[in-house]
Amino acid sequence: MTQETSGFAAFNLNQNILAAVAATGYEEPSAIQRQSIPIIMVGQDMIGQAQTGTGKTAAFALPILHCINPIKREPQALILAPTRELALQVATSFETYAKQMPGVTVVAVYGGSPMGPQLKAIRNGAQVVVATPGRLCDHLRRDEKALLTVNHLVLDEADEMLKLGFMDDLEIIFKALPPNRQTVLFSATLPQSIRAIAERHLRDPRHVKIHTKTQTVTAIKQAYLLVHADQKTSVVLSLLEVEDFDALIMFVRTKQATLDLASILESKGYKAAALNGDIAQSQRERVIDSLKDGRLDIVVATDVAARGLDVPRITHVLNVDMPYDPESYVHRIGRTGRAGREGRALLLVIPRERRMLQVIERVTGQKVTEIRLPDSQAILDARIKKLTNSLSPLVADAESTYGSLLDCLTADINCTLRAMAAALLRIATNGQALNLDAIEKERRPMAPTNILRSDRLERSSVRLDRCNRERRFPVPLAKGHVRCRIALGARDGIVAKNLLGAILNDGRLAHDAIGRIQIRDNFSLVELPEDGLEALLTKLKDTRIAGKQLKLRRYRED
Ligand code: ADP
Ligand code: MG
Repeated sequence: MTQETSGFAAFNLNQNILAAVAATGYEEPSAIQRQSIPIIMVGQDMIGQAQTGTGKTAAFALPILHCINPIKREPQALILAPTRELALQVATSFETYAKQMPGVTVVAVYGGSPMGPQLKAIRNGAQVVVATPGRLCDHLRRDEKALLTVNHLVLDEADEMLKLGFMDDLEIIFKALPPNRQTVLFSATLPQSIRAIAERHLRDPRHVKIHTKTQTVTAIKQAYLLVHADQKTSVVLSLLEVEDFDALIMFVRTKQATLDLASILESKGYKAAALNGDIAQSQRERVIDSLKDGRLDIVVATDVAARGLDVPRITHVLNVDMPYDPESYVHRIGRTGRAGREGRALLLVIPRERRMLQVIERVTGQKVTEIRLPDSQAILDARIKKLTNSLSPLVADAESTYGSLLDCLTADINCTLRAMAAALLRIATNGQALNLDAIEKERRPMAPTNILRSDRLERSSVRLDRCNRERRFPVPLAKGHVRCRIALGARDGIVAKNLLGAILNDGRLAHDAIGRIQIRDNFSLVELPEDGLEALLTKLKDTRIAGKQLKLRRYRED
């Protein structure tokens, strides 16, 4: 044990803390930990500047726990974090490091869950309070003396707290704390606003700066694809087929896009969920936990919702939408390559965003390699590889369990073993296409145009839309049917199967009542029985696919 923690043992931290650190498996302190721990341990104020993923939490949590007096049952340390997720993450880390310190309790204070239990935990003597500024101020309004015993304050991700508009709240909190406390400030950047806070509220702070920018990204292999905006969904689906990921986080710009994309992925059989600021707190925590333990593999998130998220399983970050600035990019891709593991970051670039790509390359000091959209052959290879990987561990002993059943089945059905195996493969792959023709056909409605000619496409997309809309459909209608239009098409990720399912389900129709379905790029047509059409349209008024309304209406062909 002691040998493993020799790096940490040099700090003279409380033995119980060292034992807990050893149990986490950390071998050596990170650069920010090596420099900050000795300063914070002795009660000095400090400004720490380091990128995400450098181990800042332990850099302040270990020395602060060392200073805590477990016998005194009152708040002694206050950690402020910008979001609920980060507050929870920091609180969990404190609990981990304090596991062998009996009597030390930690409370997380954040919005979106009842105030009563949080206030009670503070009054009951939690020594460590981890809070978001907004909710903490709410508590202070009820009990302005609540923080008078705090003698260590940490501002974690201070730049982010200011970006989120917590400046006024911070001032209220500073006033509620004893003036002779220790103050430690961590921030990835040090803009003027942060320096001003430091000047006013820190006493003689020591500066620690870790240059990790390039380090942060060297552990991450970065690549980009030039795509047309309309093609993003299909590109995402193709990439997911060929990328060998464990857990993956996707970034989009809007809350709606998180929902839409997550539901498309779910409909394709991925274990995916959305993460955005509108989703209830408890649900967000469930999503993160599920991603950690493998119940989910993909999270589609907005920047704010995913800040600081630390899930070691994440091997891939897929930037579906370009971030607003290079810093967000560095933060986003920092969700992978955690703790020295290698990660992969993919970026979809639409033609007019090429300049941003150059800025990103300049800021990260690294070239982002261009990759091509996987072709059907690559997708076929990936599917076969996946199938091989899932079957190969089974062949050794499945025969003893299923061999005689197989004999019975082939005899009963009167087919060859090869025919039987093929049928079983169809089940095993959920009917997924496993030959080139079928894959090409499957991809056709989603990728009707050549993505790599995206510049030209973007300019001509208006024309394409119009010609789609005006195209005639000389296909004869089934008897007693009329053609109806749905405002969603391939670009919304619609596939005929989903559409059929939604209409059958909400319209309570028999399977054969629905005629031909045609999925176009930005709308779809479906043949429905003329008899009872009005009632059917009413029933389907609120039906949604991928979060979007069908807007089903009768289609006039003239
Ligand atoms: P930051 O706050 O700088 O973004 P975190 O404190 O969240 O970084 O740490 C990032 C990851 O690195 C976490 O998974 C954490 O458990 C891990 N970690 C921290 N310190 C060490 C260490 N000394 N050795 C190995 N892993 C560490
Ligand atoms: Mg952090």
